[in-house]
Amino acid sequence: MTSREQARAVKVKAAIANHPNDPFEIATCELAPPRAGEVLVRVHACGICHTDLAVKLQHIPVPMPKVLGHEGAGVVEAVGPGVTQIRPGDHVLMSFGSCGECSNCRDGAVGYCDHFRDINLFGSRIGGSALTRNGRELGGHFFAQSAFATHAVAATRNVIKIDDDLPLDLVAPLGCGIQTGMGTVMHVLRPAAGSSIAVFGVGAVGLSAIIAARIVGCSTIVAVDIVPERLRVACELGATHAVSGPSDNPVAEIIELTLGGTNFSLDTTGVPAAVASSINCLRARGVSAQVAAPPRGTLYAAEASVVVGRGITIRGVVEGDANPQLFIPRMIGFYREGKLPLNKFVKPYPLERINDAIDDLDSGRVVKPVLVMKEPKTGA
Ligand SMILES: [Zn+2]
Ligand SMILES: [Zn+2]
Repeated sequence: MTSREQARAVKVKAAIANHPNDPFEIATCELAPPRAGEVLVRVHACGICHTDLAVKLQHIPVPMPKVLGHEGAGVVEAVGPGVTQIRPGDHVLMSFGSCGECSNCRDGAVGYCDHFRDINLFGSRIGGSALTRNGRELGGHFFAQSAFATHAVAATRNVIKIDDDLPLDLVAPLGCGIQTGMGTVMHVLRPAAGSSIAVFGVGAVGLSAIIAARIVGCSTIVAVDIVPERLRVACELGATHAVSGPSDNPVAEIIELTLGGTNFSLDTTGVPAAVASSINCLRARGVSAQVAAPPRGTLYAAEASVVVGRGITIRGVVEGDANPQLFIPRMIGFYREGKLPLNKFVKPYPLERINDAIDDLDSGRVVKPVLVMKEPKTGA
């Protein structure tokens, strides 16, 4: 931050990841004004996604201390020089960032941007972080936002304008987790009506995949998880069968109940045994999508006779192959039509209770915690 920016910086309250073993620390920091191509967002809510936790635990070794949070929703307070498409007062969601110039971005495959890791995880804003704490630089720009805070500076490319009447605490997770689950089904697997799918791990991503599978008309939707409460929610939101893994034999059970295996599968866990099951439960010419981000160095094993003999396709997917500028409005349409009942699995927590929210997420008590940057209304 330059000294001129320091003079114009706003004070923000943020949750800081300092060390893998320490809880998040709530502290006051300074946030620089937006530069060209950026906007300043007053954050109202931000979902907690597994990538935040993977970074905090250093499964993804992003330098700390850092302000995480990449499912931010809020209201634009100021825009940088030259920004015309977004205005102060606009309600926005923040999603992942991309460069817009590499060949993948030009193809519309922004989740595979050549600079994805720098823009979203490891890099910083050009010219240094927008955040300081007591004048010392603090890691920010996580997914070009760092939204576990009362304000965020985001790039216009990853800001999506939404209608003012939408509840920001409910729609915040559309920016990553829900987009990943729904997008993987709708853009990659594209199951025909009447086909079958098994979803391994039914947290927010898996649940969103189940909701999408129901929307596109899958007739058999199998949810696999180790947490009974998550399976209960999955059945409420569209799963036709629940299989408890890994204590049982999920593959045998799925093959039996689908009379030979599913047409499609999706693994959200990244646990090698679950990934193997997600491949072995497929029938001939089945397609399996892999969306998790397990620790670096994780290897998956697949039974060759299954992969070759059944003509299986295995496809890795980032952010549901979605272009957020197009897919977030589509998901909002599903929400408005009542097909994406966010209120059934999103739970608000005040920012100060981030560590409790993570405990509840880890234990399976809550599917999708969303941090709210002021006290949520009772009964919200
Ligand atoms: Zn790019
Ligand atoms: Zn995420």
